[in-house]
Amino acid sequence: WSQETVAVVTGANRGIGFEIARQLAGHGLTVILTSRNISVGIEATKALQEGGFSYDVHQLDILDGESISAFVEWIKQKYGGIDILVNNAGVNYNLGFDNSVEFARQVVDTNYYGTKNMIKAMIPVMKPSAAGARIVNVSSRLGRLNGRRNRIQDATLREKLTNLETLSEELIDRTVSSFLQQVEDETWQSGGWPQTFTDYSVSKLAVNAYTRLVAKEICDRPQGEKIYINCYCPGWVKTAMTGWAGNISPEVAADTGVWLSLLSDQAITGKFFAERREINF
Ligand code: NDP
Repeated sequence: WSQETVAVVTGANRGIGFEIARQLAGHGLTVILTSRNISVGIEATKALQEGGFSYDVHQLDILDGESISAFVEWIKQKYGGIDILVNNAGVNYNLGFDNSVEFARQVVDTNYYGTKNMIKAMIPVMKPSAAGARIVNVSSRLGRLNGRRNRIQDATLREKLTNLETLSEELIDRTVSSFLQQVEDETWQSGGWPQTFTDYSVSKLAVNAYTRLVAKEICDRPQGEKIYINCYCPGWVKTAMTGWAGNISPEVAADTGVWLSLLSDQAITGKFFAERREINF
């Protein structure tokens, strides 16, 4: 890796994203911190630049199509393209034992549709390279389809979302839309959705499914233009999202994301990780 290697991290102004940016830069890459509030992003970058590594910063709201387009244009002009995309930006409004779905639409829009928007917008600007470009999605075990707890109750839907033959973007979109419709109709509680952190879990199971789908769709790109895409769960982390109630630091939580961004084993794509080990979806 060198300063020619360009990595983009979304939601990098704080928390796990900030740490991923810091650790990636420590490997000698050029890291672009993005933040929906540019002043906050600039402050975060200043703090990192004191370490002497190579950073840049740009405004990016993953829910705003114009913001994404402006970012892509800027990347093309200034860097020509990127090598690594870390989709870290996310929201969660459940704290402790609260399982409110008050913000369900915003949670699904940000965590799933925002991440999907970024993947679609950035794939065309991912640079060809012998090592292959990388996409890492910061997800959560709460979105596991086949975990023993907190999963979608409908076994047929689970199977369809698990099986790569039946998995499609339309199916993932339909699943989250059906959840959001039930939230609107106030029937979600009997809808067989994950039972804790429901809206957040639905958003992350969609991210996980989309990760596998994209891996399948882009796996036959020619050698030299490969893109490897994986997702990971950082654990329960002391950040604003958990009200600093997690049991690990952002430094530790960033580790698997950085490892996946720089992984030399190119055969690994469409997988889910935690603590540098593969886990099931
Ligand atoms: P934080 O709340 O500390 O950071 C979230 C980041 O996402 C902030 O920079 C926030 O920006 C940004 N963000 C939110 N919405 C948008 C948007 N529309 N466009 C751009 N940026 C946005 O949380 P964490 O660091 O804990 O979370 C990072 C990721 O890790 C998330 O995807 C989260 O779901 C995941 N995760 C976290 C866990 C934990 O225990 N903390 C557990 C499992 C997964 P702003 O500062 O402007 O709000």
